[in-house]
Amino acid sequence: MFENLSDKLQRSFKNLRGQGSITDENISDALREIRLALLESDVNLAVVTELVEHIRARAMGSQVATALSPTEQIVKIVHDELVNVLGKDTARFQKSSQPPSVILMAGLQGSGKTTTSGKLAQWLKKAGHRPMLVSVDVYRPAAREQLAIVARSINANLYEGDIKGEPADSRLVERLAREARREAANFGCDMLIVDTAGRNHIDSELMDEMAGLKKLLSPSEILFIADAMTGQDAVNSAKAFNDRLTITGAILTKMDGDARGGAALSIRHVTGAPIKFLGTGEKPDAFEPFHPDRIVSRIMGHGDIATLLERAEERLDRGKAEQFAKKALSGDGFTLEDFRDQLRQIKKMGSMKSILKMLPSVGPFAGMQQAIDNVDEGQFTRVESIINSMTRKERLDHEIINGNRRKRIAKGSGTTVQDVNNLLRQYAQMRKVFKTMGSGGGMKAQQRMMS
Ligand code: GDP
Repeated sequence: MFENLSDKLQRSFKNLRGQGSITDENISDALREIRLALLESDVNLAVVTELVEHIRARAMGSQVATALSPTEQIVKIVHDELVNVLGKDTARFQKSSQPPSVILMAGLQGSGKTTTSGKLAQWLKKAGHRPMLVSVDVYRPAAREQLAIVARSINANLYEGDIKGEPADSRLVERLAREARREAANFGCDMLIVDTAGRNHIDSELMDEMAGLKKLLSPSEILFIADAMTGQDAVNSAKAFNDRLTITGAILTKMDGDARGGAALSIRHVTGAPIKFLGTGEKPDAFEPFHPDRIVSRIMGHGDIATLLERAEERLDRGKAEQFAKKALSGDGFTLEDFRDQLRQIKKMGSMKSILKMLPSVGPFAGMQQAIDNVDEGQFTRVESIINSMTRKERLDHEIINGNRRKRIAKGSGTTVQDVNNLLRQYAQMRKVFKTMGSGGGMKAQQRMMS
């Protein structure tokens, strides 16, 4: 996400490199490129114009002597202005005085409403809430079934209701919503997530139904679910929903696709409502709270270490990591089984590409982009299947694996003998490094280098 915009912005800053100060002339060139970069990323024209004007005003005002070079100044100004456009708020929920607080999910069909309802329920559960889900899409049984499947997969409470044989109309929608709210209250649920019917396009019937639900439920949040891949169309729909319903926030889905980022940078400005979450994949945990400063940091090529660390904290088993460190540093203790465990831990962090993308791509990290393009996601799986094809005895003592066994292991894991040899060589090297570190050799070597 945002790679294109990020690359183009980096290029526009390059023009200022080597300049002693910001002048009318060199800033105009840079601004022209920034404007183009934003427009090409499908950012709303009004947003681009305002952004560029703010940047210009601040850049010209910052000509006074400063320790920062022109490039550094402009990078900082663009960073701040992008954060301003996205707003400073992060995901926080309004609550109603009487539980359950109702979250109304609004959006067009296919935008990701049902998937996102499940993701949100899971996120709320992790945050200590007791959410209940309900789908009031009485027109499409498949949509209600889809939510039921999602709810089961994350073990969340769901109100299904009995609507068999009833005419599918707004009266039924409201009956279901009312029942769900009562059920949630009786069940001790503090949040009710209402997945609504979507349409292919905005029509007055849909809007009337949403307005009816708003009146009936007095939701504490009305979230607009926007498919980021649809760019300015998503922004226009967000505006239409906001004009009628006054949304309290937006969730951008499919940010893992090749969305150019325009929707993200425009929705807040056009509706006044903050983006609260991003959907980054089809699975329930491909969901992250939206932090404007972190997103801007990614756009500016500075990566997003904060999110990476949070993900590690959330998904990795600290006890296991400590156990591993102790064992590995004891030298001979590090077996191929430990190696496999470590690979499994790393895999929990997401794909290699998604991890690398959160690292900075400027300064010493320049060239990272190319590394990302060359990542072979299958490598982990291959290594794991090689280790799986060994006997336990072999995993605990790699030295007993002879030529014949290497052939068998390659065959069993669908790899080549060369792959098996490479893995064993790398493993042996790692063992050696750990052993040196464990015996304090690493420290001594470092001290030698320093003296
Ligand atoms: P709804 O009609 O608005 O309820 O949309 P769905 O929840 O059924 O989602 C439509 C399609 O988009 C499904 O195939 C989802 O798996 C997919 N989808 C939803 N969110 C994301 C996301 O963040 N990333 C990706 N790649 N796909 C998503």
